[in-house]
Amino acid sequence: MRRTLIAGNWKMNGSLAANATLLEGIRAGAPVTCDLAVCVPAPYLAQAQSALSGSAVRWGAQDVSEHESGAYTGEVSARMLREFGVRYAIVGHSERRQYHGETDALVSRKARAALAQGITPIVCVGETLAEREAGQTEWVVKRQLAAVIHDNGHCISEIVVAYEPVWAIGTGKTATPEQAQQVHAVLRAQLKAATPHPERVKILYGGSMNAANAAQLLAQPDIDGGLIGGASLKAPDFLTIIAAAA
Ligand code: PEP
Repeated sequence: MRRTLIAGNWKMNGSLAANATLLEGIRAGAPVTCDLAVCVPAPYLAQAQSALSGSAVRWGAQDVSEHESGAYTGEVSARMLREFGVRYAIVGHSERRQYHGETDALVSRKARAALAQGITPIVCVGETLAEREAGQTEWVVKRQLAAVIHDNGHCISEIVVAYEPVWAIGTGKTATPEQAQQVHAVLRAQLKAATPHPERVKILYGGSMNAANAAQLLAQPDIDGGLIGGASLKAPDFLTIIAAAA
C-alpha cells in the first residue's frame, strides 16, 4: 500500500521571515497519516532543515545538477543537497523545461544524480495545451517518463512521478479527476512494464490542486498524492489539502 505524499513546491517565493511563519504553521498542523514535504528555494534549505528536523515533514529541492562537482557556476549538486538533509528533489518541472531548455535526457540524468545520493527525484511529466488538443497527451508523458526509465531502470521503483499538465499549472484550471486518472493509469502501466516493484512508485497529480478539488482528485485509484504550487504558500490552505489526503 502506497502512503499518500503531499509535497509543496514553493517555486521562487519566500523570505526568511515569511518562511518561518509558514514552516511553523505546517509543522504544527501536519498529521502523521501521510508523507509530507516542502520543496523550497535552495538558499532556504538550511532554514527548512532547522525548522522541520524532528517533525513528520520532509524538505526538498526544486532542481539538482546532473554533475557531481566542478566548474558549473550556479549549479547545486545532489551531494550538497544531501548535506542539508534533503529528501526529495523535483526534476523536470515544466517551468525548467520551458524556461531553461531542459530536455528529457537532461531530466533523466538529474534523476540519476539525485538517486545516486539517496535523494528521491520527483520526476515531473505533462503535456501542454496544444499537445492535449492535438491528442498527444499519452505520447508526451510516456516519452518523458521513458527517458527516465531508460537511464534509471534498475532503481526506477525509487522515484516519484508527478503528472502536471502544463495548462493546469498556476492557471486555476485543474484537470478533472477523470482526466488525471486516465493519464495516471497510463503512467502506472508504463511503470509496471519497467520494474518488478511498480507498486512502490507514487504518482502525484499537480496543477492548481487546492482545498476545494483535492479530495476528489486524491480519491482516484492511481493518484497517490499531490505536488502543490500556489496553495502550498499559506499554511491553512496547504493543511486543508493535507487533511483531504489524510
Ligand atoms: C507546480 O508548480 O508544481 C504546481 C502544481 O503549481 P500550482 O499548484 O500553482 O498549479
